[in-house]
Amino acid sequence: MAEDRKAEMEAVLRKQGDAHRAMRPEPISLRRNRIERAMKLLSENGDELCRAMSADFGSRSPHQSMITDIAGTVGFGKYCLKHLEKWAKPEKRHVQFPLGLLGAKAELRYEPKGVIGILSPWNFPVNLSFGPLMQVFAAGNRAMMKPSEFTERTSELMEKLVREQFAEDECAVFTGGPEVAHAFSTLPFDHLVFTGSTATGRKVMQAAAENLVPVTLELGGKSPVFLGRSADFAKAGERIALGKMMNAGQICLAPDYLYVPEEKADEAVHGVWQGTANMYPTLLENEDYASVVSDRHFDRLKGLVEDAREKGAEVIEVNPGNEDFSSTNARKMPLTILRNVTDDMKAMQEEIFGPVLPVKTYRAIDEAVDYVNQHDRPLGLYYFGEDSREREQVLTRTISGGVTVNDVIFHVSMEDLPFGGVGPSGMGSYHGIEGFREFSHARSVYTQPKIDVAKLGGFKPPYGPATEKAVKGMMK
Ligand code: NAD
Repeated sequence: MAEDRKAEMEAVLRKQGDAHRAMRPEPISLRRNRIERAMKLLSENGDELCRAMSADFGSRSPHQSMITDIAGTVGFGKYCLKHLEKWAKPEKRHVQFPLGLLGAKAELRYEPKGVIGILSPWNFPVNLSFGPLMQVFAAGNRAMMKPSEFTERTSELMEKLVREQFAEDECAVFTGGPEVAHAFSTLPFDHLVFTGSTATGRKVMQAAAENLVPVTLELGGKSPVFLGRSADFAKAGERIALGKMMNAGQICLAPDYLYVPEEKADEAVHGVWQGTANMYPTLLENEDYASVVSDRHFDRLKGLVEDAREKGAEVIEVNPGNEDFSSTNARKMPLTILRNVTDDMKAMQEEIFGPVLPVKTYRAIDEAVDYVNQHDRPLGLYYFGEDSREREQVLTRTISGGVTVNDVIFHVSMEDLPFGGVGPSGMGSYHGIEGFREFSHARSVYTQPKIDVAKLGGFKPPYGPATEKAVKGMMK
């Protein structure tokens, strides 16, 4: 069965590769047209896609899905259309003196790589499939996508819509579980973009290495929040609550844990509590608040809390409506703040990816910096405060994929900033011109002048005084 699926995917890859080779050079207008069709697909079917996402999650706000998965992705397509010509322009590069005077030329051309595979997760199933696709198209490539099995209805709908809008040799979607995903990752693509967990990312890179397929890995990690003493704790609490509660914390960039000044811990926790209560006075019947995607994920989150409780953490459920969460199987989980956490707790070891928020305290901010530096490089890092010296101390002493100052997550929504991780949180990036370049091959083209440069430079045998002079000149 898995073999059949693999053969089917291989056939499409061959077809796309053949079409790519046969049709080169494709005009920029065709790239634009592909992006426009992808945008049209999303605009015309946005409501249906939002319904599918809600059904897949159990409950997920169509408003939220419209912002995060549909409008955000269409907006990114628009951004690509606006910058495409500029990105695709060849760049003149310098040649060493005196070659320029002799008529030599050097340029860098950004050329399509060919067929790019996109493996995407369930948490923003449309955005994380079609977002990369916009730049894959912008760079003149064709694409094969394998969305997540956890959002099955959405994945099937994407497959149908792509089939209606694109020829199979331009773009195709394949659905299926981990076996299909693994088979997909073994295909000899010209590039593979994977968004998902660090553990699966490792397997994907191993599989891609067999064919030396270059990879972009958009992974996860524990993104810390530094609250400086100069922070406005009420405002910070609101913003952290928004970032942590959206999609019920199932965001790669969600604030994973807080680091707060010891004497301000109550104020910080209160800020988050209040921020949450303001936006979500109730949770169970509140459509704005998403469910946890599956029973397995729900049990894992419950397990993190129980493990922390057993090991001595104080557990604070933010349940402003005093609702009975045990009376439902809607997989809705209130924000659960953990205080007095220690490193032996699973909540401090794994990426949380849900509405659980550990709070650590520091006396001097250096302790927090040292802690973060002793752990895997995170995808995002957040600093709240007005003390610019302290902010720079935090930023210049740590490493993370990206940073938002005085808020969380927002750097990903800046279309012109590259988005990606570092170390265990990923490699490579997209968004911005960097995304276009990630999916392009930067091809160096050098044009030799008519004059015999090799002879003039003394590089042509028989070697002699001209050679010695050239060598001396090069090392001067
Ligand atoms: P996951 O790694 O379980 O799955 C992602 C994709 O990989 C799915 O399509 C799945 O079918 C496929 N897959 C599963 N097993 C595979 C295998 N052996 N070989 C190849 N592919 C395989 O991730 P998830 O649970 O869907 O998503 C959550 C994770 O994704 C979190 O860690 C989160 O931080 C991360 N994430 C990162 C970003 C980012 O942009 N950096 C965005 C969203 C989510």
